[in-house]
Amino acid sequence: MTADGKVLLILNDASEARTISDRLAAEGLQCFSAHDGITGLALVTEQKPDVVVCSRSLPKMNGLEVCRLIKRNHKLKHVALLIVLDEGDDGSIVSSLEVGANDYLLRPLHLAELTAAVRSHFKNRTSITRLKDDNKELATILEIAEMLTSTLNSCDLFYIIVHKVAEALAVDQCSLIRIEPGSRRGHVEASMDPDDADRPEVVLADLPEVSRCLEANKMLYVEDARRDPELARAHHADELLSVLAVPLQLRQSTAHRIVFRMARRGEPLTYREIKFCQIATTVAANALENAYLFESLEIAHATLTDVAKRDPLTQIYNRGHLFERLEAEFGRSLRKRTPLACLLLDVDHFKRINDELGHQAGDAVLVGLGRVLKEAVRGHDFVGRYGGEEFMAVLPETDAQGALMVAERIRSELRRVRYEGIDDRQVTVSVGVSVLDPETEGPAGVAGLVAAADEALYAAKHGGRDRVVVQEKALPVPATGND
Ligand code: GH3
Ligand code: MG
Ligand code: MG
Repeated sequence: MTADGKVLLILNDASEARTISDRLAAEGLQCFSAHDGITGLALVTEQKPDVVVCSRSLPKMNGLEVCRLIKRNHKLKHVALLIVLDEGDDGSIVSSLEVGANDYLLRPLHLAELTAAVRSHFKNRTSITRLKDDNKELATILEIAEMLTSTLNSCDLFYIIVHKVAEALAVDQCSLIRIEPGSRRGHVEASMDPDDADRPEVVLADLPEVSRCLEANKMLYVEDARRDPELARAHHADELLSVLAVPLQLRQSTAHRIVFRMARRGEPLTYREIKFCQIATTVAANALENAYLFESLEIAHATLTDVAKRDPLTQIYNRGHLFERLEAEFGRSLRKRTPLACLLLDVDHFKRINDELGHQAGDAVLVGLGRVLKEAVRGHDFVGRYGGEEFMAVLPETDAQGALMVAERIRSELRRVRYEGIDDRQVTVSVGVSVLDPETEGPAGVAGLVAAADEALYAAKHGGRDRVVVQEKALPVPATGND
């Protein structure tokens, strides 16, 4: 029987009440007494007892009325009512049960019988409380599971599990620690302590419970950390009492070593609380596994998408992606009525490099050229490999004058570059420039813009190579010659 159980005796016979009270007190219960209905009712409201033992016949207000009023008050719904009927008053049994009495006892009262009836109520109450607790824990686990399965982001998962468990159990510390693979260092991935918001670094030497839990790869529970010299030293354990560390069992992602850790000061964790944490950790591990899988797929997808856009040799954009972006820029230029410049660059006498120094040397020139070209343009410009030894640079919001300047700068920068595996010969490029000017008549679509740049490039080659030619229509300035 619970020591904190309260019993109110509303019995007209004061000496009978004292005898019963002594007996129930010996059982560890707290007893109060009243000897009339009105006082009894007032005491019920004031003391909120668990059980009321009430005579059917009472001065001022009869026992049935007292029971009826108690049952009507929803704040007193949990109170168990035992009604005591006088000898021969069997006729009141039905009406007693009708007003809400949980049980009845007929006089003469037998102490053992009354005590057993009260005890049985407390037993029922304990079972009901346990069922309610079970229900609450189950609901929390379900809520955690629902929240965890609805997210595929590992950071969100860490946050949910820590905060939901900390909310469900009154713990003083609750965190998820991730230890780097092959290391004795890690980070607090999530914690109920706001000071840990920026993932502070931790070392295993400071967290012996995490270290032991990882070594054994199983849950570790220390009921009294003050009696564990290692934990006492690490945690100034006069502050902490019980410490629990549960490893997250991740089947696929074995590189991740994650431990769910919590600690409490006042009272040790109960068996049920530990079980609850274990279940929550299993649910979290499954959800995390999915999140890691999803994240790795996302990374793989992003990598593949990027690979598909790039030229395998130079790693700059390939022709397909160049045209995709050029289409988009062309549309934007027309909408915003801003110019757009397209530069086509072709290595001069590239065949000679291949023929004289070998294909590999030729490749090295292409790689170096792509890198220099990429670095030579502004952030919102883009470059790519148009084909063979031809490159393209697209310059949004750039008119013919600006494009000529950029093209000249690129040409002279490329002239200065020395490539690996090439003797000190100079590699030069010819550049053809075309410009879309939305204010006047521009080239016919992207194909027209590129064809115009190609024509200008042809003119540059014919003009003697190592020079820039701007399509004539857009720029009435004569093409420049050699430096
Ligand atoms: P021009 O000044 O008229 O442009 O002369 P060129 O020799 O550069 O012109 P041509 O078009 O005759 O030669 C281009 C060469 O580029 C031919 C081809 O074998 C070579 N080439 C194309 N793609 C690659 C590549 O990926 N690597 C190497 N090393 N050579 C390539
Ligand atoms: Mg060519
Ligand atoms: Mg060439």
